[in-house]
Amino acid sequence: MNSSSKFSSFLYLLFFGALILGAFLLYNSKAFEQNPPVIDSPSELFWNLKDPLKIRIVDDSGLRNYRIYLLKDGTKTLLENMTLEKHLPEVSFELHPPKNVMFNRERLLEFEIEATDSSNWSFFAGNTAKKKITAVIDTKRPMLQLVAHSYKITKGGTALVVFKAEDEFLDRVEVSNGSESFKPQPFYKKGYYASLITWPITNNDFNAKITAIDMAGNMAITNVNLFKVQKNYRQSNLQLKDDFIDGKISSLIEEIGERPLVSFKSKVEMFKYINEEIRLSNESVISKVGQANLAILPAHEFSLIPFYPLRNGAAVASFGDHRIFNYAGQFASESYHMGLDLASVQNAPIVSTNAGRIVFTGFLGIYGNVVMVDHGLGLMTLYAHMSEIHVQKGDTIAQNSVIGKTGMTGLALGDHLHFGIIVQGQEVSCVEWMDAKWIKESITDVIKSARTLIDSQGN
Ligand SMILES: [Zn+2]
Repeated sequence: MNSSSKFSSFLYLLFFGALILGAFLLYNSKAFEQNPPVIDSPSELFWNLKDPLKIRIVDDSGLRNYRIYLLKDGTKTLLENMTLEKHLPEVSFELHPPKNVMFNRERLLEFEIEATDSSNWSFFAGNTAKKKITAVIDTKRPMLQLVAHSYKITKGGTALVVFKAEDEFLDRVEVSNGSESFKPQPFYKKGYYASLITWPITNNDFNAKITAIDMAGNMAITNVNLFKVQKNYRQSNLQLKDDFIDGKISSLIEEIGERPLVSFKSKVEMFKYINEEIRLSNESVISKVGQANLAILPAHEFSLIPFYPLRNGAAVASFGDHRIFNYAGQFASESYHMGLDLASVQNAPIVSTNAGRIVFTGFLGIYGNVVMVDHGLGLMTLYAHMSEIHVQKGDTIAQNSVIGKTGMTGLALGDHLHFGIIVQGQEVSCVEWMDAKWIKESITDVIKSARTLIDSQGN
């Protein structure tokens, strides 16, 4: 081999080396990226033909073009061909129902979305993604029918609603009072539901309605015309005394242990912290436990005897009392009393009149030592300020079980029981659930007549 042929083979080597390097660089460069666009839409969905389908396409090198085809009887019809001048990394568009299209018997519409990016890969043609979307056409709204409900509801109180909701593709049912929503439970037979509903004392615009929504977003709404009984709750002005704040309030702050006493600038601030901040956080715990709604028994078997939690207990404060606290002649804070205070003797036994399951035990700020019992259908009872707790979370208890003893833990000045009724997390008037006549008329009779009606409908 002479020197010139040696030189030419060196050139060849250099040439091929440069080619491989160039190809490698191209392969890894953004302009030649090989990732096809991503078409963001479920491949199977329900469509009411009213709301357009929202489709989003993303690509790292930017989109060049997208096409929408209608697939029908083996043919592919181009509905839209969009070329993008700006190669955006993300494009969103709405797909409206094609005009004059007859659906097949399966009520399906099939589309193909094709998207091409602006990469130079594949001889400058770019990367293409295809996605088939099958839409089940459902333009029929759910059937919604009231079966039975309580005749009336009192401000601060509870009512029961039983209804039927049917749809081939039912997604969810919901009962609302105008501000809060309630989760219904299956009732007796397929397609039937029941829910307790409350009228919170702070809600001046109570309006009960049921909503059923299917997978395609078709919606049915029915109003529940409950006879509304207004009730005024007591408002009282109370003077805060120094010895109360230096005593009970200070020791409760220390017991809670979240803030040192020295961090408060005034006595009013200490009281506001307990009456507002701690109360709010305690009530959110109660509300959360109350919404767990374990459905411990079938809704149509729900039956209760009037609650009588404290033998010979005298009422010392009512549900709904609006308390306004003043300090040195100035407004300091306010609160609503969300239970019934009963007092008898010190360390008196507390009874859960109805059977249930223990869902909470423990210290809870202003409520002191607390027990919460789930009785089914979203109804729970709460017992506060206890000196002793005799049950554990998870226990199942029978009628008339002693669950502990009264005391003065938490924000209590004397030994008493704070008794609360909670419906799906909402604290409501206790006296209704302590009244045999109210329970019969508003709850038990409604369940009975709903069952009779469902049986007579023969399904
Ligand atoms: Zn109380």
